[in-house]
Amino acid sequence: MDQETYIGWSSVPRGMKVRLDDFHTGWAHNDEMKAAGKKTAKKRALDILQMNRMSLSVAHDLFWTDKRYAILIILQGMDTAGKDGTIKHVMSGVNPQGCRVESFGIPTRHELNYPFLWRFWTAIPRKGEIGIFNRSYYEDVLVPKVHPEILDEQRLPPGYGSRSFWDARFEDICAFEKHLTNNGVIILKFFLHISYEEQRDRLVSRLRNEEKHWKYSPSDLAEREHWPIYQKAYEEIFFKTSTPSAPWYIIPADYKWVARMLVADLIIYSIHQLDLRYPEVSNAQKKELATALAKLQKR
Ligand code: AMP
Ligand code: MG
Repeated sequence: MDQETYIGWSSVPRGMKVRLDDFHTGWAHNDEMKAAGKKTAKKRALDILQMNRMSLSVAHDLFWTDKRYAILIILQGMDTAGKDGTIKHVMSGVNPQGCRVESFGIPTRHELNYPFLWRFWTAIPRKGEIGIFNRSYYEDVLVPKVHPEILDEQRLPPGYGSRSFWDARFEDICAFEKHLTNNGVIILKFFLHISYEEQRDRLVSRLRNEEKHWKYSPSDLAEREHWPIYQKAYEEIFFKTSTPSAPWYIIPADYKWVARMLVADLIIYSIHQLDLRYPEVSNAQKKELATALAKLQKR
């Protein structure tokens, strides 16, 4: 099996009107998986994930040395979609020195002193690093859409909450991402797509299992009530912000092994697209190295 093309997962084309209901959340999302059957598909997915972890580790070493690009991975999804687990499983094996994970929650009073993109600016990965945003500025065109009243606390100029206010936020996000990609930041945006039923099962498991109690937040149940509005808000996000240089990938995530395999594969694929190289050593440097070696060998 040609691993590089095994998945061939495509991003949301620019300007595509997405209906999330039309996107699979399960494991049989393509004919090859379906034909293989669940058991074989799972085994294959786990093998690919394992291989990808190794290739990611190797590719990241070169990426880190090359130091001309950064990768920004944006992870979004409904509560329980598996963002934390994806980070843990996909990134294990990557040199922690060149990796940065930032999680974003409700903006603090301090953060609200600045325009909404400020807190993300200070968290973008440096060249050579893989940065992961566990939630991101996409929450700013999501949560206040569902709960417009939270904008009242954000000391915004008049007109907030209007159509042109949201359009301006989308425009800011696209301009921000354009600026990053123009300057060597590779952006990959993943939406971990779970079904309503799967979310219920995961919440039940959090409530039943003592070791998972810490993961449960009472807001999980409250936000679940707003499922259709969240889904609609996500559909608008994909429509307005998926671009060839900062694409959205809708990842079927009811099965963690599917989501992790796809995410790892897409990261590896995008690194392999780059013209990475070890820094060139000039003739003068080579001479210096030879002199240093000769000196050490003489003792
Ligand atoms: P968790 O990811 O479980 O730690 O929860 C973080 C919470 O912060 C989630 O409920 C997010 O929806 C919320 N959050 C993150 N960013 C924002 C934002 N910009 N505005 C409002 N809520 C946010
Ligand atoms: Mg939570």
